[in-house]
Amino acid sequence: MTSKRPLTKVAVLGATGAVGQTFVRLLENHPWFEVAEVAASARSAGKPYAAVTRWIEGDLPAAVAGLTVKACDPALVESPIVFSALDSNVAGDVEAAFAAAGRLVLSNAKNYRMEPDVPLVIPEVNADHLALLDVQRARRGWTGGIVTNANCAATMAAMALAPLHQAFGARRVFVATMQAVSGAGYPGVPSLDILGNVIPYIGEEEPKIEREMQKMLGVLGADAVQHASFVVSAHANRVAVENGHTVCLSVEFEREPRLDEAASVLRAWRGAPAVRGLPSAPAVPLHFFENDDRPQPRRDVMRGRGMTVSVGRLRPDPLFHLKFVATGHNTIRGAAGGSILNAELLSATGRVGAA
Ligand code: NAP
Repeated sequence: MTSKRPLTKVAVLGATGAVGQTFVRLLENHPWFEVAEVAASARSAGKPYAAVTRWIEGDLPAAVAGLTVKACDPALVESPIVFSALDSNVAGDVEAAFAAAGRLVLSNAKNYRMEPDVPLVIPEVNADHLALLDVQRARRGWTGGIVTNANCAATMAAMALAPLHQAFGARRVFVATMQAVSGAGYPGVPSLDILGNVIPYIGEEEPKIEREMQKMLGVLGADAVQHASFVVSAHANRVAVENGHTVCLSVEFEREPRLDEAASVLRAWRGAPAVRGLPSAPAVPLHFFENDDRPQPRRDVMRGRGMTVSVGRLRPDPLFHLKFVATGHNTIRGAAGGSILNAELLSATGRVGAA
């Protein structure tokens, strides 16, 4: 599947931010996509990318450094695939304008995630939900479309829960998060607020985790997803970790699994077959730890080039049935890498371009 093919030009909107930079970094030397355009706010437009971007990690790819930042306007940005790392204050109108102009928008913002005709997708979990794109195009008259990926903490929780939900049916889910500072963008949380500290509040995060898990683990119907019926209670915390969101889950199931059954389901899970072999797909989407002290963000966040979610500490739960811990990279699996994998799947299945 990764054989030589002409490169498709892509644009990154919000390219100067934390997620936008992760797109630029992950797309360097991508076998199918080439970053041809970068766009951001009026503060950055018209200036060289390298001059307006406070580059956070590694070396800024030379091919992108000299690009002139454009305004987020479909009249100026021509690429057929548009990765959006826009702030949610602006993502709503801008992403709709690009979709109406025939571009396929892969969005990280919250604005469209819960719209019934917008796919909210983790490819290994619910690749079939991408079929909603046809419903969206028909309903909105768009020739392009919007495909979203989830809130970064919801992504880790949904990936870890997916195999168990598929096998035993989740009924009640308690999730407490420990979320990295890079999840707040750049420059993010002031150091004097977070060093040596835990902040037990992340604005709007808990309802997003609660709702988005139900949509992603729901069942695709004729023109919408029937959300999963399990109830989720989320506690979101910001912790002094650079990269990697950790989620602790306690889950009650329709059928109580034995510990060894649950462990073998988690160990064996490889996700939707259509995703395997795509350039950004990790060989193992969930890495299952038997050790007592893993996963840990510092040690496990880059597993599978940041695309694998690590799961461990599976044990009985005295309130519900099972409890376990999952860790994954928030700006890679939880944002840019997840979007790129969605684009690869859409590209491999012939869904890029006008209907
Ligand atoms: P960020 O570092 O604050 O970057 C925001 C980007 O939006 C910048 O490129 C900025 O450009 C651009 N922008 C702001 N106002 C704009 C305007 N009026 N017009 C056009 N562009 C504008 O934020 P981030 O952490 O990368 O997050 C980006 C999006 O991804 C958000 O919707 C966030 O909720 C979501 N997300 C983030 C994570 C994560 O782990 N960080 C995970 C999942 C989803 P300028 O530099 O020109 O201001």
